[in-house]
Amino acid sequence: MTRTGPASLDVIIPLFNEEEMIDLLTAELSRTFSPEALAKHGLSRVRYIMIDDGSSDNTATAVSAKIAAGFPAVLCRLSRNFGHQNAVCAGLDYSDADLTGVIDADLQDPPELLLQMADKWREGFHVIYAERRKRQESVVKRIGYWSFYRIVAFLSSVHMPLDSGDFCLMDRQVVKALRRLPENLRFVRGLRAWVGFKQTGLPFDRPARKAGVTKYSFGKLYKLATDGIASFSIRPLKVAQVLSFSYFILSAGLVGFLLVGLLLGHQFSIPPLTLITYLLIVSGNGALCLCVYILGAYVGRTYLEVKQRPVYIVQEIVHNNDVVGTPRNAADAPHVLD
Ligand code: UDP
Ligand code: MG
Repeated sequence: MTRTGPASLDVIIPLFNEEEMIDLLTAELSRTFSPEALAKHGLSRVRYIMIDDGSSDNTATAVSAKIAAGFPAVLCRLSRNFGHQNAVCAGLDYSDADLTGVIDADLQDPPELLLQMADKWREGFHVIYAERRKRQESVVKRIGYWSFYRIVAFLSSVHMPLDSGDFCLMDRQVVKALRRLPENLRFVRGLRAWVGFKQTGLPFDRPARKAGVTKYSFGKLYKLATDGIASFSIRPLKVAQVLSFSYFILSAGLVGFLLVGLLLGHQFSIPPLTLITYLLIVSGNGALCLCVYILGAYVGRTYLEVKQRPVYIVQEIVHNNDVVGTPRNAADAPHVLD
């Protein structure tokens, strides 16, 4: 399916203490999304959704001045620092364009890639995510990210593209699907993979930050990593279940062996009191492991239930080989897209 006709574009940009970046960023955006470039890529308009994630510097004032001078943006100021992922979600909630892009404020996500992504969208893709081939960052951070993406991909039950962050372009249907996911723990790149649709990657070399310093403290990175792992998989819990069940089987075998030996009148070379103590310890631990196994079975399912994710998402309805759209009655079926 190819898409024709003009399409509107919203670009979400989360900002946390990025005052040094505002001049550079707005200049680069205006250069990239010039009227000629928009026309060339069939874009009817561009709007920047700047989310100020509780900055304590002059980010908001600087953005407001740009808007007053005609920069086509809206500034949405969050009441405090809610974190990058939640700031992106605020942008997704605000966006109403045909296409929604997400980029970082520090120009590590080259905006001109969004134009190439728009061309891919025309070919029929719903999500075009940027895939980092190289990063200009410290070795520790590179190793950390490399291992993190591989662990998440290994643990996740949905296909999670490697080395892709939040930098992407999404079709309206995908944005709507993301908005309908009710969970609070929002690991956006994971949710984006989870909703499905036709997705593809666009490889790029990630440049260094253009000004200022990283706004991801170690604590924030740790939270992102653990949220990413925990919100996309209950496999670690399953590993714990396998371990505890294995111990239970082993201990049951040992207790059974000792009891049968006793019943058959076998003389063990340990004093009876010590033997009884062994039996109590081993059987007690075995029983505890069985309880952990049972608890794991319920906790995992409870975790999946409380997320209240839709059980399916409709991409399109096909009738007599024609796509006749998707049901519009979102009230009847909240996760069916219009
Ligand atoms: N950011 C945010 N809230 C935060 C931390 C970061 O909105 O609590 C924004 C930040 O302004 C930037 C993007 O998230 O636009 C990515 O942050 P950064 O470039 O500092 O992360 P890094 O590239 O170093 O991982
Ligand atoms: Mg950055």
